[in-house]
Amino acid sequence: MIPSLERSLPSTALKRDSEVILFDCGEGTQVQVMRAGIGFGGISSVLISHLHGDHITGLPGFLMTLSQTNRLKPLYIFGPPGIKGFWKALGRTLGFKTGYEVVIEEIEGDYQIDRGGYRISATPVDHTTFCLAYALIEAKRPGKFDKAKAERLGVPAGPLFGRLQRGEEIALPGGILVKPSDVLGPPRKGRKVVYAVDTRPCKGVVNLAQGADLLVHEGVFGEELRKEANLRGHSTAAQAAEVAKEAGVGRLILTHISPRYRDVRGLLAQARAVFPPTTIAKDLMEWEVPVHK
Ligand SMILES: [Zn+2]
Ligand SMILES: [Zn+2]
Repeated sequence: MIPSLERSLPSTALKRDSEVILFDCGEGTQVQVMRAGIGFGGISSVLISHLHGDHITGLPGFLMTLSQTNRLKPLYIFGPPGIKGFWKALGRTLGFKTGYEVVIEEIEGDYQIDRGGYRISATPVDHTTFCLAYALIEAKRPGKFDKAKAERLGVPAGPLFGRLQRGEEIALPGGILVKPSDVLGPPRKGRKVVYAVDTRPCKGVVNLAQGADLLVHEGVFGEELRKEANLRGHSTAAQAAEVAKEAGVGRLILTHISPRYRDVRGLLAQARAVFPPTTIAKDLMEWEVPVHK
């Protein structure tokens, strides 16, 4: 909520192939993007959870810097109602113009958009103002290609293998049809990553995060301040761990930690007592989510 020398304001970058999606854009995000070596060119979208200052005050600087690059492709911004007004106000007060198109989508409730290869889902959470959690959910990948089986069916090695792998049916000389299902194993699960700040522990996140590989969730205080956390629309580290456990995620990363915890070992122990695969985020920390084999 307040930056310290150790912790900047919220922003999480999700890199998938050459595309980068930013979740939130707290003050100073553009500098951290440079420190992380992400590169502005790959950033396709910014997904804003809510309109509290610690999550959006980085947008003006970020957008201004982006307009100094020779970006041509559009930038997509998703956020709660009011995000369009924020953009318009920037235009009015800063005389702000970009050489690229800014496409803004205001999300008012449960939401889903298919982006080819993956979809983004959003759901309202339980904070002191309207706030959204987001999920990136990859489509299933085709199953493993059984080369020996393809050869037994008379498919010559080469481009026909690729066509079967991409899900196309092929015809062999002599008119024999080979279907992808003849040579591919069962489809492989895509990855799922969920970002949920700021929120009290809530059902919406449990549902959205069902079976996710990774849940990035806020854990602002320790158990000694549970009441305080919940009053302010936040979760404790242990409550975030309960959500992770209930959703059956693979890994929980806690973020949005109060600056009062310079030593986070206590928070981590409380969370791990509930959900052992928990990690506490550090600025510029990277986490790889491997593909399902
Ligand atoms: Zn916040
Ligand atoms: Zn907030």
